[in-house]
Amino acid sequence: MTIEKYSIGIGDRFGHQGAAQLAAFVKAKERGVSIVPVWNKSNREHALIGTRPADVRKEADRAVGVVGWNDSYYVDADHIGINTVDLFVEPSNYFTLDVADFIGKEPAHDDLKKFQNECGKYVGNLRVSGLKESIAITKGMITAVGLKYLSAVKEAGKIYRHIVSRKGKDTFITEVSTDESNDPQTPAELFLILAALAQEGVMLQTIATKFTGEFLKGVDYVGDIKKFAKEFEQDIAIIAFAVKEFSLPESLKISVHSGSDKFSIYPIINRTIKKFDAGLHLKTAGTTWLEEVIGLAKSGGAGLQIAKDVYVQSYQRFDELAKPYLTVIDIDVKKLPNPSTVNGWSSQDFVCALKHDQSCPQYNNSFRQLVHIGYKIAAEMGERFMTALDESQKDISAGVTENIFQRHLVPLFLNND
Ligand SMILES: [Zn+2]
Repeated sequence: MTIEKYSIGIGDRFGHQGAAQLAAFVKAKERGVSIVPVWNKSNREHALIGTRPADVRKEADRAVGVVGWNDSYYVDADHIGINTVDLFVEPSNYFTLDVADFIGKEPAHDDLKKFQNECGKYVGNLRVSGLKESIAITKGMITAVGLKYLSAVKEAGKIYRHIVSRKGKDTFITEVSTDESNDPQTPAELFLILAALAQEGVMLQTIATKFTGEFLKGVDYVGDIKKFAKEFEQDIAIIAFAVKEFSLPESLKISVHSGSDKFSIYPIINRTIKKFDAGLHLKTAGTTWLEEVIGLAKSGGAGLQIAKDVYVQSYQRFDELAKPYLTVIDIDVKKLPNPSTVNGWSSQDFVCALKHDQSCPQYNNSFRQLVHIGYKIAAEMGERFMTALDESQKDISAGVTENIFQRHLVPLFLNND
C-alpha cells in the first residue's frame, strides 16, 4: 500500500460530516488536483466522546458510498501506542505511531554503539540536493540523537512489527510522530532519526516532526515565519535525500500535525512542496466540529441555544476540558466573554466570534479555542445535540465543505504564485 502524494487528515468527532468533508476533495479533483482523504481519530477523542475505532471506518465507507468517491481513502489510528493499537488494527489502514513518551529514555548501550557506528560515515558537512547550505553532522550530534531518540525508534519498531504480525506486510500506511515532544527537531536530527528508523526496519511513509513555532488547535501559526520557511525547506530536502540514502519508501513525506487553519504558512508550504516536487500530509483534525457549532449558531432557535450552552459549560469546566490539551492550546482567559454576555448574543454575534476570519473585528481566538476543546459537552448532551445536528445539517455541510476546500485545500495545493 502506497500513500498518494497529497493527503489531508480530516477529523469528525461525531461522525456526521463525512460526505460533506469528502465533497471538498471532489471539488479539488474537478480543479485538476488529486488529494486523498484520511479520516483520523485519536484514542483521546474516542475516550472523550465514547466512540470506537470501528465507527470511523463505518463513517468513511458510508461517505465514500454516498459521494461516489472512486479514489483511495484511509482510516488513521491517530497517535496510538503499543497499549492502544489493538482496537484499531482491524478497522484502520493507516497508523500514526506516537512515540513521544519514549523520547529522552536512555537506550541500551549496544543499541547506541551500533547506531553510532552505522552513522559514523555521515560526520562532516552533508550536501543535500536543493539546499544551498550544507547540513553539519558531528559525532556529538549522533550520540545526542541516539541518546534522545533511539528508545523512541525502538518503540516505533515494536508497534510496527506488531501491526505487521496482525495485518500482514504492505497492508497499511505507517506514520511516525514525534510532534508531541517538547522541542522542535532540527533538520540534522530529522536525518539521523530517519537513519535510525530505517535501521530498525520501520517502513514509514509519513513523518510528523515538531517544527519551530506553535501549532495550536484550530488557530493560525504562532512563531517566526521566516525560520519556519527555512526549516520546512530543509526538512523536505532531507526527506528526499534520506529516501535514497536509506532505501526508505519513495512515497515518504512530511506530515504536519494540528495543521488546521495555519493560514500564514500555507503559501510557504505550497511553494516548497512544488519546488521540490514533494508530497504532503496535513492533519486538520477537529475543526469540522467548530463548523458544526457555527452551523448550529447560524440556524438560530434551538441550535443557537445549544451553541451557547456548549460555550457556557466549557467556560465553567475550563480546567477539566483544557487538561488533555495544555500543550496545544493558548487561551487568554481574560479575553473569554462572560456567559451572561454570550447568552444575549444573536446568531451573527456568535458566528463572528467563532469563525476563523481574522479580518472580522469580533473574531476571538480564545473563544474559538475554548469551543474547540468543548466537544465533550456536546457529547454529553447526547440526543439533544445529535437531533440539532440533523436539523441544521444544510447549514453545517455547506460550512464543512467550504472550510476544507476554500480555506485549506486551495491555499495548500491549488493556488499558484
Ligand atoms: Zn499530532
